[in-house]
Amino acid sequence: MLCLPQQTTHPQHIMGKDPLRVCVTGAAGQIGYSLLFQLAEGNVFGADQPLILQLLDITPCLPALNGVVMELQDCALPLIHDVVGTADPLVAFKDIDAAFLVGAMPRREGMERKDLLAANVKIFKEQGNALDQVAKKSVKVLVVGNPANTNALICSKYAPSIPRENFSAMTRLDQNRSQAQIAAKLGVPNSAVRGCIIWGNHSSTQYPDVAHAEAEVGGRWVKVPEAVGDEQYLRGEFITTVQKRGAAIIAARKLSSAMSAAKAACDHMHDWFAGTPADRFVSMAVFSDGSYKTPEGVMYSFPVTIAAGQWKIVQGLSIDDFAREKMDATGKELVEEREEAVAACA
Ligand code: NAD
Repeated sequence: MLCLPQQTTHPQHIMGKDPLRVCVTGAAGQIGYSLLFQLAEGNVFGADQPLILQLLDITPCLPALNGVVMELQDCALPLIHDVVGTADPLVAFKDIDAAFLVGAMPRREGMERKDLLAANVKIFKEQGNALDQVAKKSVKVLVVGNPANTNALICSKYAPSIPRENFSAMTRLDQNRSQAQIAAKLGVPNSAVRGCIIWGNHSSTQYPDVAHAEAEVGGRWVKVPEAVGDEQYLRGEFITTVQKRGAAIIAARKLSSAMSAAKAACDHMHDWFAGTPADRFVSMAVFSDGSYKTPEGVMYSFPVTIAAGQWKIVQGLSIDDFAREKMDATGKELVEEREEAVAACA
């Protein structure tokens, strides 16, 4: 185990509140590198919330993780009470309040999607077991590592003592991408677009939906379809741009999205703890209760509102035939993934 000694700098900043214990897995990876600084700065849990960071990676990556621990130390940040780096999930998950499960096996050349899913869900089975044993029962678990929705489902299945509602998977990056595309199309700031929804799986079958989104144009909020005035774009190029954005980043950077993924993970966890403003909803993959005729018991991305740490699926949005078809297709994929995952874990 790699440890950073307890910080004694700026003790006045850390006296008011008990530290939160936050775990990041895959902490030696590229998303981890961006995520940890945002966390340590106070962007997620608040500028006055001390933190104990419990970082997990696999044994071969412990030297790199040690470098990350040293860099965190060198930032001399007032909120960081302690940093632990380890390859043991039972150490990393001990008494944690929040977990960012980022670590996953990357796709190797010649690997089928099915093989990747099987390898990854086994990691999340093991991590679910470990969470069950040592994490706080109130822990909030965000799964980022792909296939995120199904990994979250398996993780929860193997952590039966932790409520199902405490597990979610990330589609916030897709939501942020949608928002940014619409803002760019309209020539308005990102803050002038709200209510973009991601339905279903964090995969190419996801359905980015702006039928209920609004944009502030000329001083008033109007529905995005009205503001954009181009149905062909919204039902074609817009959707494929968001769905294929991850691949476009890889083609350009030769590496997958990391800064934007880390920012989205921070947004997701921030809103889960702090709640959503009265006029906003956000997208999170959570256990489907069959809302909007989606398959029950898969981790389906819905628009949710959050209060007191509890998410609630937004109800009553109208779904037209175009949306229905797309929502069914992504739901079908999640059911297939669940079957493959359960078989791989058996
Ligand atoms: P990366 O390869 O740079 O880092 C992954 C890290 O995870 C590595 O350090 C690796 O050693 C570690 N790891 C592997 N198995 C582990 C295990 N069993 N326990 C702990 N750590 C383990 O990858 P990255 O770019 O940081 O991406 C991480 C994951 O996030 C990938 O699965 C990627 O596909 C996914 N991702 C998801 C989204 C989303 O929107 N949901 C967006 C971007 C990336």
